Amino acid sequence: MPECDRREFFAGAALFAAAATAAILNQKEAEGGDPSFMNNVPDPVASGEELPTFKFELEKSEGKVIGKSYGKEATVKQLPISKGIAGVSMRLEPGAMRELHWHATAAEWAMVLEGNVRTTVISPDGTAETNEFVPGDVWFFPRGHGHMLECLGNESCHFILIFDNGYFSEFGTFSISDWIGHASPALLAKNFGVPASTFNTFPKEEVYFARGEVPPTTPNAPLQGVKAPALTHKYEFLSKPPHRTFPGGREWRVDSSTFPISTTVTGVVLELEPEGLRELHWHPTADEWQYVIEGDISVSMFGSHSRYRVETLHKGDVGYIPQGYGHSIENVGTKTCRILIGFNTGVYQTIDLSQWIAGNPVDVLATNFSKPAQLFERFPKSDVFIAK
Ligand code: MN
Ligand code: MN
Repeated sequence: MPECDRREFFAGAALFAAAATAAILNQKEAEGGDPSFMNNVPDPVASGEELPTFKFELEKSEGKVIGKSYGKEATVKQLPISKGIAGVSMRLEPGAMRELHWHATAAEWAMVLEGNVRTTVISPDGTAETNEFVPGDVWFFPRGHGHMLECLGNESCHFILIFDNGYFSEFGTFSISDWIGHASPALLAKNFGVPASTFNTFPKEEVYFARGEVPPTTPNAPLQGVKAPALTHKYEFLSKPPHRTFPGGREWRVDSSTFPISTTVTGVVLELEPEGLRELHWHPTADEWQYVIEGDISVSMFGSHSRYRVETLHKGDVGYIPQGYGHSIENVGTKTCRILIGFNTGVYQTIDLSQWIAGNPVDVLATNFSKPAQLFERFPKSDVFIAK
């Protein structure tokens, strides 16, 4: 075929291929509806006549137990509405380590509640970081970055892990012992340049919680020497003053503006005095995952079309509010309550009901509710955020 003919032939073939692709796409469009609305299809779990439960008693669940260490998880399996965020309550006994692993489908955000924890994490650029955490400290590991967690000292440690994917589960967790236990010794020998017999006595199944000596007080240097990353994975959270304070309570908040590596999770700790209320509000860009650290709360959720549901959560319970759903949190106990909240966004946004009303003129409000305009002069002129 002469050069010019060949060029025409290929140009023609390319056009034909493009036309064929367009035809297939058009057919798919016809079957599936307008593709611009694909992401707006109602979630069947949350679009029934009644709102489904949004509460799960996490600490009452059994989870995975090895020795005195455990991991209890809340995923879509335990709490079907929680598609955007999963969480785990983990306790490690002294000398225990959550082995080297990564999460293929989720980033990991965590806050320590009790004890001391040391972590190592590897980044794709070859840098690695070792950090130590006390209660109130936070870590963030981006999706797919390999890490381990170990208990420091002679007391057990307890922390809450938040994952930016409700379908996260152990099936999405890749452990180093599981991998090495299933690769052939010959392959491993070639990979690491050591004799194949090295791997004869390695674990054949996933270790999950490894158990050994209490780690050294001062961490040893990595095999490669210290190569620190540009962005740290650690944030000292609750040792800082609250983000906002009110007579009815206070809020600590950490998102990517103060903890730059945490691009997909925002963390909040809400403390409410008895009768304190985190007012009616919604989050335009994120789902909300709640864990009650201390106290008793009443959580209301509004889901359009007359659907309204209230759940009472106690210490160790988990709640979940899908993106855009109206909600409130009220302390119904006799003590100050503390709630850990995770959002699957690195940039926090909220619209509070008092703020929305304050953003409208009184005549609009009067018409909306068929009430006299002057009634609305008594309403707040800015957001209430936490009421009492
Ligand atoms: Mn992990
Ligand atoms: Mn909220």
